[in-house]
Amino acid sequence: MRILLTNDDGVYAPGLRALLPELRRLGEVVVVAPATEQSAVGHSVTINNPLIVQEVLDEERRPLGWAVEGRPADCVKLALRELLPARPDVIVSGLNAGSNAGINVLYSGTVAAAIEGAFFRVTSIACSLEYSKPTPPDFARGAALARRVVEQLLARRPAAGSLFNVNIPDLERHTPRGVRVVPQNLAAFEESYDRRTDPRGRVYFWSNPEFGCPDPHPDTDVTALAEGWVSVTPLQFNLTHENLLREIGDWNLRL
Ligand code: MN
Repeated sequence: MRILLTNDDGVYAPGLRALLPELRRLGEVVVVAPATEQSAVGHSVTINNPLIVQEVLDEERRPLGWAVEGRPADCVKLALRELLPARPDVIVSGLNAGSNAGINVLYSGTVAAAIEGAFFRVTSIACSLEYSKPTPPDFARGAALARRVVEQLLARRPAAGSLFNVNIPDLERHTPRGVRVVPQNLAAFEESYDRRTDPRGRVYFWSNPEFGCPDPHPDTDVTALAEGWVSVTPLQFNLTHENLLREIGDWNLRL
């Protein structure tokens, strides 16, 4: 099996490096990942700058893949259109430092890379590990758990282009209880900003990284993680609202 491994934390991120040996148990792994951290860039792509690529080696100085000076979605596009010798059987994005659950899925570079893979009709799996800052998470353990889920998803031979979002709960707080297949939580997150004034009197803001979901819907990815379960959510990138599409078809819109 040919596996493309990517992420949004960068090619040298410990989460990606922890997934590497786990995925090598499943097949041949090539890495194409951003040269620098690209968390929360969502599905942005680079159009006004060159996408500089550099070959990278693994710990044993064997060819590992490419670092791309671009976004996660750029990496997947370049991998499939230019860099890989053959089309991968699966794309794995992660292991992200931090969960990608609820509406955060829409901001996530980790998930965007997987969505880009699904555009190419390649089965793609985003993998993220929740953790409580500032404690560094146990990426090795998280990666082993993620690989077990990836392996089982692929064993079911999902249709080409299937898209999955896998989250591992905070391993400091939980011994994972098992796997739950749950929908994405849709509640808004509670964000906050620190308002400050710079030495020249200008107001600026820092977004507070510790935003939570105060009112999660039951039986969703957010609640499953909070209860110590690994969450698996199948996703789709079709944003068309099918019911409204039918309804407004009768609205007689005209010029
Ligand atoms: Mn990230």
